[in-house]
Amino acid sequence: MVGRFAPSPSGRMHLGNLFSCLLSWLSARSQGGRMILRMENLDPQRTSRAYGEQIMRDLEFLGLDWDEGPYWQSDRGGYYQRCLDRLAARGLVYPCFCSRAELHAANAPHASDGEYVYSGKCRGLSPGEVEALEKKRPPALRLRVRGKERFTDGHYGPYEQDLERDCGDFILRRSDGVFAYQLAVAADDGAMGVTEVVRGRDLLSSTPRQLYLYRLLGLRPPAFVHIPMLLAAEAGPGEAPRRLSKRDQDAGLDALRERFAAEEIVGRLAYLAGQLDRPEAVSAQELAKGFQWSKVPKEDIILPGDLLA
Ligand code: GLU
Repeated sequence: MVGRFAPSPSGRMHLGNLFSCLLSWLSARSQGGRMILRMENLDPQRTSRAYGEQIMRDLEFLGLDWDEGPYWQSDRGGYYQRCLDRLAARGLVYPCFCSRAELHAANAPHASDGEYVYSGKCRGLSPGEVEALEKKRPPALRLRVRGKERFTDGHYGPYEQDLERDCGDFILRRSDGVFAYQLAVAADDGAMGVTEVVRGRDLLSSTPRQLYLYRLLGLRPPAFVHIPMLLAAEAGPGEAPRRLSKRDQDAGLDALRERFAAEEIVGRLAYLAGQLDRPEAVSAQELAKGFQWSKVPKEDIILPGDLLA
């Protein structure tokens, strides 16, 4: 059994990231499993090594240890390129010259995650058209998709997507040369022998794309277990609870570490995850002994106004 932490070092960790890290760790450790740490720092504009280093210190502070890594996705471009070359050799990859504005104008909004279903505009370009367009701008690379993907999520049960209808041909490498999350995450979890992926349910709708890539790349897929999102109660009247983001200063680990000891943070998160009857201080080690998936709620969790108080 091999689990993983896969944070994107684009800022200090917040409660939502921590919740995923804690549950991944508890699930793996309660099954006697190993943990891998992989920094998802593909995007040089949004991520930094310094944030990655800080995330490691925060995980250590909370008592969430790992056996292998850190791997940095920024070091693994050669491997992602080889994966892409294998897909391209099978005629499954094509260049896409659509601008962001064109994509927004011409494509149906995605039902589940706010992304766009790609219309396939560049799918049928002739070699001559590609050559002419390449002189104007560098293309993104897209994967042709076909058929349905089904799987059973460890927490939310059966899930199915018709890839053509629900997502469309998706990007493997952006026009600026940055490899896409979908390709890197499947290529890495597969190559690193990860057997269980625990992450926020905002990524549930990405899982079919990843399963499709596992199959094409001949990699063995892990079990997927998605978890509820932590939401911030909105202050304004009539406003819906909203997702935590790195902009929520109070939810950042820097602010939390000033107010709470490690075991208080772990205990409160464990309480939200249904593992404790009261939000009392406890070590992650202690929690792993009694961890039960069946107690983790399925509904998203709305944090009180001052988050952990
Ligand atoms: N790096 C992603 C994030 O921090 C997680 C990806 C995953 O768990 O598959 O949101």
